[in-house]
Amino acid sequence: MKKRILITGGAGFLGSHLCDRFIAEGYHVIAMDNLITGDLKNIEHLFKLEHFEFYHHDVTKFIHVPGELDYILHFASPASPIDYLKIPIQTLKVGAMGTHNCLGLAKAKSARILVASTSEVYGDPLVHPQTEEYWGNVNPVGPRGVYDEAKRYMESITMAYHTFHGVDTRIIRIFNTYGPRMRLNDGRALPAFIGQALRGEDMTVFGDGSQTRSFCYVSDLVEGIYRLLLSDYSLPVNIGNPDEISLKDFAEEVLQLTGGKVNIIYKPLPADDPKQRKPDITKARNILGWAPLIGRKEGLAKTYDYFKTLSSEEWSKQPK
Ligand code: NAD
Repeated sequence: MKKRILITGGAGFLGSHLCDRFIAEGYHVIAMDNLITGDLKNIEHLFKLEHFEFYHHDVTKFIHVPGELDYILHFASPASPIDYLKIPIQTLKVGAMGTHNCLGLAKAKSARILVASTSEVYGDPLVHPQTEEYWGNVNPVGPRGVYDEAKRYMESITMAYHTFHGVDTRIIRIFNTYGPRMRLNDGRALPAFIGQALRGEDMTVFGDGSQTRSFCYVSDLVEGIYRLLLSDYSLPVNIGNPDEISLKDFAEEVLQLTGGKVNIIYKPLPADDPKQRKPDITKARNILGWAPLIGRKEGLAKTYDYFKTLSSEEWSKQPK
């Protein structure tokens, strides 16, 4: 019998890569998504497979999945600032009620559940690099609070289900991840830069560009998720690439990659934008034997190749 796994947010960027990975590992994969930020194009190549199912469903509503479940990956949530600022209430609901429903399902099915938390739980961090022991510096009433606090609540209710109901839980704190199937118009730095380069527009850096991020290629993240799910460790684990870069230098790298035909321009920094971001991955190394393998040069080239295959109609879509 194949192991059965439910992947919420399965039509999104990360969820669709997880569907591919678990299909390749021989699982029966059930993807669930309400398509609020996802796209069926990301998983349509799986529809013909006997061991793939898709449920069009909002996980903030009661979740019914017939049959047994061995694992749940809860990845449903808007993830880019542009999305969660546009749909703040849905973002809070999917982090709170969606997570609660997924934990209830895990309890009912005796399934192991891994929830997708984020480096945003560290807010604008006062500790650098960020270890899992750092409690964070989040503004609960700032514009990003809807995402950050939803994810902090997600972690809290997950630990409560672990402690009080004995549910087998895993928590991953994901740092900025990139790769094919990101949306060009989702407002995150890399697709924004590449989209602007493809359209021949100047690249916009917010602030003076000295703020840092650490970008992890999607296949490395998926490997980390796979290892954490199959581990026996139930406290949060950071997964990300510690190779930190300033946004200004990152824009320069993308400029080089895309042929250097546009300029880099600067606009004011959005409220509560974190100044530094770099994961401490000691735990992932020690507990999971995990470290990222794909450097930025290789990952950026793969991602650019993907975006080039999209139609010019896709290139011209602006953030909504
Ligand atoms: P994404 O927007 O591409 O995917 C999210 C998916 O969840 C979409 O397909 C969307 O339609 C679906 N969804 C949202 N609300 C839903 C609901 N109520 N019911 C059912 N489906 C719903 O984003 P992503 O980058 O793939 O992120 C996936 C997860 O990983 C999110 O939980 C996000 O917080 C987390 N994460 C991502 C990153 C990153 O760098 N990509 C970093 C940290 C955490």
